[in-house]
Amino acid sequence: MTTSTTFLGLGAMGTALATAALDAGRPAVVWNRTPQRTHDLAARGAAVAATVAEAVAGDGVIVVCLFDHRSVHAVLDPVAAELSGRTVVNLTTTTPNESRELATWTAQHGATYLDGAIMAVPETIGQPGAAILYSGSDAAFTRHRALLDLWGTSSFVGTDAGLAPLHDMAMLVGMYTMFAGFLHGAAMVGSEGVSATEFTARQAPFLAAMTGQLAGLAATVDAKDYTGAGQQSLRFTEAALAALLRATAEQGVNGEVLKPVHDIVTRQIAAGYGEHGTARIVEELRSAR
Ligand code: NDP
Repeated sequence: MTTSTTFLGLGAMGTALATAALDAGRPAVVWNRTPQRTHDLAARGAAVAATVAEAVAGDGVIVVCLFDHRSVHAVLDPVAAELSGRTVVNLTTTTPNESRELATWTAQHGATYLDGAIMAVPETIGQPGAAILYSGSDAAFTRHRALLDLWGTSSFVGTDAGLAPLHDMAMLVGMYTMFAGFLHGAAMVGSEGVSATEFTARQAPFLAAMTGQLAGLAATVDAKDYTGAGQQSLRFTEAALAALLRATAEQGVNGEVLKPVHDIVTRQIAAGYGEHGTARIVEELRSAR
């Protein structure tokens, strides 16, 4: 008999994960707080557990995909005694420290912990482009690789359980600030009646091309040498940002997305780094530590 994988949490993402497993012919036991969400999976052949205790009664890997750290504890705490010897793969979004706490907590109950950070939406699980970063137990990552690879490209980023969510959240910072910058630009051209759709046709390829600059910035940051040749100076960047803020104000658009970047650059220049490269912004950001 093939061991069943347990799925706890059948929201949009948990359902996508369980569906991929079932479609690959793997037996699954599913549980969700709201039982109605189990119906489609039952129709695909999943065994539906009425309680969490029933769901974890087997000996397969336990895949957890709940709302947040608090809901993971709400679901797992009552069955803590049943987790000994089991592997928990937690794909719930948590902060790095929340993941470390869960790794410690599962270890205290004799279980193995693998944290996953999903870089995909439910519709793309199992499709090209879906990626999941893992951290925690490297043995669990290796042992369950066939299951993990059903969902997307699997990468192991380290045995510190907090590393996968750390990468996830660092990447999302780039995404959200890019989205906010895009919307700022859309508001600027929109002030003259240019549609956001028309703007996007020009902006999207430009941003894609600009990602080519990231490797150079990264090399500078890693070398911590902001004085090397070919770097755009903070003084140059300040002049550019000041012009962008003037144009923003002239168009009657709110500049509060861009202003903090200008503030950082201005502070760096005031500290005497005007001729240093713009990648030196990272030093100002690090200094909050
Ligand atoms: P949903 O809101 O669709 O589902 C949330 C799930 O958590 C449901 O199964 C819900 O149960 C359950 N839940 C919430 N609180 C509790 C609780 N206190 N006790 C028991 N169960 C609880 O979210 P998603 O499925 O979209 O997301 C799940 C996780 O995946 C999140 O951490 C999210 O950040 C992450 N993720 C999601 C992505 C996405 O695009 N959707 C992308 C990347 C990561 P019930 O049905 O009873 O409400």
